Amino acid sequence: MKDKKSSKRIISALLIIALIALSFTACGLKKNSSDADAQTQQSDTASQSSSTDKSEDVTDGSSTSASSTSASSESTAPKSTQGNSEAQPQQTGKTRDLSTFKDKKLIAITFDDGPAGAESTGKLLDNLDKYNARVTFFVVGNRVANHASILKREYEMGNQVASHSFTHANLAKLSESGIKDELDKTNEAIKKVIGVEPTCIRPPYGSLNDTVKKAANMHIITWSIDTLDWKNKNADTVCNNIVSKAFDGAIVLLHDLYPTSVDGALKAMEILKDQGYAFVTVEEMAKLRGVEMNNTAVYNNFKPAS
Ligand SMILES: [Zn+2]
Repeated sequence: MKDKKSSKRIISALLIIALIALSFTACGLKKNSSDADAQTQQSDTASQSSSTDKSEDVTDGSSTSASSTSASSESTAPKSTQGNSEAQPQQTGKTRDLSTFKDKKLIAITFDDGPAGAESTGKLLDNLDKYNARVTFFVVGNRVANHASILKREYEMGNQVASHSFTHANLAKLSESGIKDELDKTNEAIKKVIGVEPTCIRPPYGSLNDTVKKAANMHIITWSIDTLDWKNKNADTVCNNIVSKAFDGAIVLLHDLYPTSVDGALKAMEILKDQGYAFVTVEEMAKLRGVEMNNTAVYNNFKPAS
């Protein structure tokens, strides 16, 4: 009896190991040149602008548990709701025929902290058509003027441009007027380049409180899958973190400052498209799921109504 039990245990252990190995193989085992890439990028971003990038790196991920209302604790997917139903300006420069995505599993891949340079944001944009993908960019306002052409390109391709504050501030620590200042400046900077103000915001670090919600008066988007890309800076790990946690309606958090994040996202799309996923913006996903977003809820996924 005992022998049988222990051999059963061994078999299940082996099965688990095999499964883990398989999921890694899907994203490739090769430890690519990510270190070198990341270093190149770091110097790149340092020269590009803003002292906020580094603090950002350490935070969107690590602060999930620290912030007063962290993204991961907001597991509530608000169902379709009333809310302010006035028409919102179109958030992308090109609308897509969403009917082709109706029967697909959906995933919203999102990138914070950009816009960044050709090696990262540019490479991502170059490759989105391969996967019929559009993504959402939560951009930092003080980077916009220096990266206006890439922001314009993001928008004109049909990606969604959204706000991530002006200085990557921890909004929950600011006064109401401080929050408004951060957001107004960002909206202005974005509008100057693409002609419309964003309707969605992701607060840096996922840090939120009631004052932020009230002052923002925008659709607040957090995330359901944290790739920890700022920390691992490894394309295969990023890919695996997406593929292994993917679900219909997920919102994935990445940062387009890092070429490894872009490579990881592209690899994941290659795998997920074969699993029946379509890659949509947050706004497209809400529409496809029949959710009319309001400015009081916090959205971290758009699972299909069960
Ligand atoms: Zn951020």
